[in-house]
Amino acid sequence: MQVIPKLFLDYNPPMPLKQSEAIILRTYPLREADLLVTFFTRAEGKVKGVAKSAKRSQKRFGGALEPLTCVRAYWQDRAGSELARLDSCDVLLSPLSGEIDYARCVALSHVAEMLDELMPERETNDSVFRLAWAVLQNLESGAIWMPVTYFDLWMIRLLGFLPALDECIECGNSLAGQPAWFHALRDGLVCQQHRRIASSEMSLESREIAARMFRNPVDHFADEPLPASRLADLRKFLMQIIDRHLDRKLHTSAQLERLD
Ligand SMILES: [Zn+2]
Repeated sequence: MQVIPKLFLDYNPPMPLKQSEAIILRTYPLREADLLVTFFTRAEGKVKGVAKSAKRSQKRFGGALEPLTCVRAYWQDRAGSELARLDSCDVLLSPLSGEIDYARCVALSHVAEMLDELMPERETNDSVFRLAWAVLQNLESGAIWMPVTYFDLWMIRLLGFLPALDECIECGNSLAGQPAWFHALRDGLVCQQHRRIASSEMSLESREIAARMFRNPVDHFADEPLPASRLADLRKFLMQIIDRHLDRKLHTSAQLERLD
């Protein structure tokens, strides 16, 4: 039997420094001066890491750890720990650079909560990353509803939770040009005949906009600011899908509803 010298067994090589575009999702205070940071990276999906002395030293992180800041993040994994060490971040786009009002804050928090709740740790998902990145560039004060609805629709589709919107899930009949209904306790849309008590109607307009959202990037809709009332049915339908999936309601979906 070959004997491995003890010295060799004890040797932990330093972990390489990793880097990726990333979106800061949330931070928690940790010990005296450190922050626990959850960030969604393009390279490795959602990562949790400790930013040493981030509360004390503004030099290294500055405003880079504000939720929803788009950054280039540098981190190191640590042997025997699920928590990485977040070394530094270069700000690429800060949500604070645009006008901040309450509605935009809620919308930004909603994107963060969706990513945090729905994305598993350390699972790369380039489509979801590109979606979130593009939506954040378009989430401007006074025009939150189109990008928020676009984000929810695509997010649910990319995660595989979205049923077909053009046919009744009971009988399979086409819903084109027909009224369509949805219910909190089941997936998908149904026709007039299969409508249950306490269903909500999904307007033809919302279904048409959803179909356009599947064919176009989010900035295609930048010149179509929407009042909250339009697409409210589509957002309700989408949030019911998320509620069923998580078995609870997102904090920010209740906040968004109160803005309506
Ligand atoms: Zn039917």
